Amino acid sequence: MINAFTVDLEEWFCGHILNKAVKKNEWNNQELRIVEDTRRMLRLFSRHDTEATFFVLGWLAERSPELVKEIADHGHEIATHGYSHTSLTEMTPASFEEDLKKALDVTRRCVKQEILGFRAPSFTITTKTLWALQILKDNGIRYDSSVFPLSLHPDYGIGNAPLAIHKLNDTLIEVPLSCVEILGKRIPCGGGYFRLYPYGLTKALLKRCNRQGRPAVFYLHPWELDPAQPRVKLGPINTLRHYYNLDKTAERVDRLLADFRFTSIRKLLGL
Ligand SMILES: [Zn+2]
Repeated sequence: MINAFTVDLEEWFCGHILNKAVKKNEWNNQELRIVEDTRRMLRLFSRHDTEATFFVLGWLAERSPELVKEIADHGHEIATHGYSHTSLTEMTPASFEEDLKKALDVTRRCVKQEILGFRAPSFTITTKTLWALQILKDNGIRYDSSVFPLSLHPDYGIGNAPLAIHKLNDTLIEVPLSCVEILGKRIPCGGGYFRLYPYGLTKALLKRCNRQGRPAVFYLHPWELDPAQPRVKLGPINTLRHYYNLDKTAERVDRLLADFRFTSIRKLLGL
């Protein structure tokens, strides 16, 4: 079975966890590491002849258009992660549409391919933000990959959402992040969970997902392969979530790409 490998292309300081430590008006003053971090990923994908989907943050596309072009030139899919990395739960439909249009505009200037996919910052398509789906459709988006079908996390997730890829309406497809059901509990994979679990557990979960007839939809950020990124002071839980096992991720990705077959979401969906 072929799975989807996805990357949320953003700097080490763009994530929700670092919001308070590095404010948005300080983003321009931070050390930029995305080029080096992304090239580390591109080398791994090339080594395993793997195509992936990159959900590019518009803010980054505006600053590093050459990097977005370089990713596309490697044969990967370019999709959008919105412009400002604002959670949808903190936006109105009007401000979300403005953010999305700006992201699409700057990203389209970097590449020739059509932008088909969207991933919400911090997976914030929840039961409170389903209004966003119509806006995605109106702006030419063909699939959304933002729903985490679990209720474990305080900031995101739809606990009873389908685990499998499904049609939301005649034109929009939902590609949920992978969870595996074990004894009635949904166990997530990818990102911080990938760093937290021993590699063997991720492998077992992905195998189980495939055995249940579903391709895995795996995700990672370039900074998760960068143990030398600047460290900021976070609380103990967020320190664990953000910094745990950064030095092991690259080697684990190498193993993952050898153990499973991956492609981009556009290829998986035949778009
Ligand atoms: Zn993100």
